[in-house]
Amino acid sequence: MDVQSLRVNGKRLQSSLQQMATIGATPAGGVQRLTLSDEDKRARDLLCTWLRELGCEVVVDEMGNIFGKRAGRDSSLPPVLCGSHVDSQPKGGRFDGILGVMGALEVLRTLHDSKIETKRPIWLVDWTNEEGSRFAPAMVASGVWAGALERDWAYARKDIQGKTQGEELERIGYKGKAAARKVPLHCYWEYHIEQGPMLEREHKVIGAPKGILCLHWYDVYLEGEANQVGPTPMEGRHDALCAAAEMILKVNELPGRMGGNMVATVGELQNYPNSRNIIPDRVHFTVDIRSWDDEHALRSWELVRQDFVAIAERRGCPIRIEETWRVKHSPFDERLVNRVLETATELGLPAMRMVSGAGHDAGYMNQLTSTAMVFVPSIGGRSHVECENTKWEDCEAGANVLLHCILKSANE
Ligand SMILES: [Zn+2]
Repeated sequence: MDVQSLRVNGKRLQSSLQQMATIGATPAGGVQRLTLSDEDKRARDLLCTWLRELGCEVVVDEMGNIFGKRAGRDSSLPPVLCGSHVDSQPKGGRFDGILGVMGALEVLRTLHDSKIETKRPIWLVDWTNEEGSRFAPAMVASGVWAGALERDWAYARKDIQGKTQGEELERIGYKGKAAARKVPLHCYWEYHIEQGPMLEREHKVIGAPKGILCLHWYDVYLEGEANQVGPTPMEGRHDALCAAAEMILKVNELPGRMGGNMVATVGELQNYPNSRNIIPDRVHFTVDIRSWDDEHALRSWELVRQDFVAIAERRGCPIRIEETWRVKHSPFDERLVNRVLETATELGLPAMRMVSGAGHDAGYMNQLTSTAMVFVPSIGGRSHVECENTKWEDCEAGANVLLHCILKSANE
């Protein structure tokens, strides 16, 4: 068999994605498959069935991560790991996460059909709770597996109803016995939708992210002075919401002002008492800054922090700032990033180098082993929404790139 000419079955990949999309399907054409929900369980059950049909050994670890293990000629060699996640955002889309799992499954099916043996074992993985929307934080189970987070701390995370992640793992029958602990890997591959507009804009089919942007989170708390809005003159007011409004615009202007590759966002805001006839006396909002350059992000934050302090002082609104979370930018293995580009060229697919603005389980894997990702375009650059979409032919193209990247790695 000429391995070079090997291709995945695009129709079968499409049908697997469509079948998965019925689990948690929303009326508007999206998917709601929150981690450790009944829908997540059904998707996991289906994945396990499909993996067993291929003769894979299925192992569920104590964080609910599912591994489908395909043997290699030499089982003593560290495996090639590939996968993503089957959970989704609330009112999420049909491609985020699941494409990486179904893409990896399609690779295993293609190898199985053609009776191709590889030198190294190939393991597929579904990481529990990548999204972090039901239990924060995101990417928790790959974090535990990588040794970056504590298992018992992860078990104790609660959802909005007070149910813990540990209880819910048990309830859906996916609290496995295997330790959620890293083992030596040869490399890690993750196939994903881009979730942004760059590939579409540049008319490319394949993206080779050189890594994941740094991520800095801050929480800002402002105090004002509440009063009846009618009798209180404008002069001398201490309106916490007005102070926040000025600050939010400073965040929005920050990337333009600083230049470089950076985005800055205020995505969450709470205003108290949130009444139309009381001057707001308490506001909380979040700041999210991402860049390829950690120092640039820190310098930018320092600038905007000084603005915040000046605005707070001018408006007489005491401010408190918490540095909530900082993750350094994560450069992928240059050799594997180039492999994505080379493989795309071999397959006649237009490809480009880029960065990943979103976090992925690949970020934790990158701390352990050589890691890279394969991106395909998101139509309209939309993701984490019900209209999230990717052309079937692009799904197939990305899976072919994944197939040949994995084959090269598995025969090293
Ligand atoms: Zn994802």
